[in-house]
Amino acid sequence: MSNAAALPGQPRGAVLSGPATARAVNVLAPNASPMTLDGTNTWIVAEPDSDLAVVIDPGPLDDTHLRAVIDVAERAGRRIALTLLTHGHPDHAEGAARFAELTRTKVRALDPALRLGDEGLTAGDVITTGGLELRVVPTPGHTADSLSFHLLADRAVLTGDTILGRGTTVVAHPDGRLGDYLDSLRRLRSLTVDDGVHTVLPGHGPVLDDAQGAVEFYLAHRAHRLAQVETAVEAGHRTASAVVAQVYADVDRSLWPAAELSVLAQLEYLGEHGLI
Ligand SMILES: [Zn+2]
Repeated sequence: MSNAAALPGQPRGAVLSGPATARAVNVLAPNASPMTLDGTNTWIVAEPDSDLAVVIDPGPLDDTHLRAVIDVAERAGRRIALTLLTHGHPDHAEGAARFAELTRTKVRALDPALRLGDEGLTAGDVITTGGLELRVVPTPGHTADSLSFHLLADRAVLTGDTILGRGTTVVAHPDGRLGDYLDSLRRLRSLTVDDGVHTVLPGHGPVLDDAQGAVEFYLAHRAHRLAQVETAVEAGHRTASAVVAQVYADVDRSLWPAAELSVLAQLEYLGEHGLI
């Protein structure tokens, strides 16, 4: 699964290109699918008075989309000065090299293979381009290289595929691991409880105005699915595909291959914790 993202499970909302907070503007990529919802959200982030902007997740390799992102920034009087990636899935990162070429920017990511230029991203790094304060929060689990970005001034967090605007995400086994993912959700919960974050700017789907509620929903959903998987195993279902057919019976079959990755991650987690 190259660009795994959404599984059903949360109310729907509208997705629009345009301003989401005082500092973040969405440009929706034209790659809608059952796995990518309405398409990838490419985020342009800038201080209100700055002529420099940062782009998070240029999205798929689609020149029309990449040029539209540049156009939106330029019409606001801004030059794109830096490109960041939440993770390496192609629906977020495939267009990054081309985008960097068009904007003459560097690409910073956790995975060295995705970087262009000499700078990576690690936990606690603060991006200060044009006066921004964008803090790097490690959120592995969807993939090993998943990051979120805490946009302090807007009390917002850009979550990539760690939290989506609709449905729930895939733990993309074997790269993604459930234990990491649960730790990441708890880290995001602490941002909402201790640091006042109330808005989620996701990699797909609509903006969420109740960040804490979204994190709690994700934690509860994961606990519920884990209990279902444990029950299915105890009932004698021995393969991931058999567990999917049992536990994800309510989910469209086109999403079962993605669900199977999450089930494999859950089986690994249950095994590691001596629960099966
Ligand atoms: Zn992804």
